Amino acid sequence: MRSHIKLGRVFGIEIGIHASWFIIAWLITFSLAARFRSVDPDWSAAQVWSAALVTAILFFVSLLAHELAHSLVARAHKLPVRGITLFALGGVSVIEKDAPDAKTEFLIAIAGPLTSVVLGASMWWSAKALGHPDTGPQTPSIAILYWLGVINLGLGLFNMLPGYPLDGGRVLRAVVWWLTGSMERATMIAARAGQVMAVIFIGLGIYQFFSGAGLNGLWIAFIGWFLLQAASGQYHELELRHALVGVRASDLMSRDCALVPGPTSVQDFVDEFVLRTGRRCFFVTVQDSIAGLITPHEVRALERSLWPFTPVQQIMKPLDQLHVVAPETPAMEALEIMAREDLNQLPVVSDHHVEGMLSRSHILGALRSRRELRDSLRLPGQGATRGLPPKQPMR
Ligand SMILES: [Zn+2]
Repeated sequence: MRSHIKLGRVFGIEIGIHASWFIIAWLITFSLAARFRSVDPDWSAAQVWSAALVTAILFFVSLLAHELAHSLVARAHKLPVRGITLFALGGVSVIEKDAPDAKTEFLIAIAGPLTSVVLGASMWWSAKALGHPDTGPQTPSIAILYWLGVINLGLGLFNMLPGYPLDGGRVLRAVVWWLTGSMERATMIAARAGQVMAVIFIGLGIYQFFSGAGLNGLWIAFIGWFLLQAASGQYHELELRHALVGVRASDLMSRDCALVPGPTSVQDFVDEFVLRTGRRCFFVTVQDSIAGLITPHEVRALERSLWPFTPVQQIMKPLDQLHVVAPETPAMEALEIMAREDLNQLPVVSDHHVEGMLSRSHILGALRSRRELRDSLRLPGQGATRGLPPKQPMR
C-alpha cells in the first residue's frame, strides 16, 4: 500500500494517506452528521456539521495513535519502520523486518489494540461522567466524546479477532510460535484462521444483505473479501518462501540477455533488437564491457522524433546506479529487494562482471514449472518427490 499524500513525520515516522482514505472520511462525516442530527434535533446545521467534522478528524487521530503504538514498539525493538499509511479500511504500519522472536511479535501486535481500548474506555467514561450520552439531550462535545469512545473500543476489539491480517491474528501467531518454537507453523495457522474468519465475514455480510441490511451487509462482505486477500497472500508468501529455500539468484537468473552496443540508435535498437527478438532484457556495452541496462521503459520516456539521433548509451540506466545482487544472494531476498524498491529486474553481478538478469516473472515462472514437473514426477507408490535439485538452473 503506497501512500499518495505525505502528511509529515510524527516521532520521526512518516505518515501518509492513500487516496481511498478520503472516500471513507467523507462517508464517516456524512453518517456522523446524520447520527448527530438524530441525537438532538435542536442542534443547528452548523453545530451538526462541525461536530461531525471534528469527530472524523479525531477518529483519524485515534487510528494514527493505534498505528503509532505498533510502530514505536517495533522501533524500540530495533526493527526499521518505514512509515504509516492510512487507507479506506484503517491503517498499516510498514515495518521492514519481521520480529526476531515470539515475544517481540506479541508486543508489537498487542500495542495497537491496547491503545485503542485504553483510548476508547477513557473517552467513553469521560462522556458518561459529563452527561448521559445514551439518553436525552446533550452537548456536542459529549456526543463527540461518546462516539469516539465507542468506535475506539470497537476498533480495539475488532482488531483482536484471532485471524491474520488482524492484530489478533498476529497475537495468535506469536502465541503459537512461542508454544511450538516454529515461526513457519505459527504463520500458517494464523493465515488459515484469517481465511476462515474472512469467509465467515463474507457469508455474514451476504446473509445480512439479503435480510434487508442493504449496504451495511455489502460492506461487511467487502471487509471479509479484503481480509481473505490478505490472509491468502500471507499463505502464498509462505509457500513461496518454502519453495525458494536454498535457491540462489544464480539458479534462476536468465543468462540470455542480449547485448546492445552503446552507440546504437534508439530507433535501431527498437527495430532490430526489441521487435525482432521479443526479449525484454538488454545490456548496453561500452568498450566491450557492460555499462548499463535498457528496457522499453527508458525508450518510452524518450520523445519519438529523437529516436534516430539518440544512442542507447545516453538513455540507459548505468550499472553503477542500479540495485544489483550477487549470484549467491538467496532468491527470496532478491524478491524482497524487488518488492521494496518496486523493480521488476535485478542484474546479477559478481566482481564487477554481469552474470545475468533476475526478473520477478522469471522467478515466478520457474517456480510454476518446478511445481508442474514435481506433480508429473510423482509416481504411484513412491510418494511425493522433493522437487528438482535447487541448484539446477531452470528456464
Ligand atoms: Zn493494529
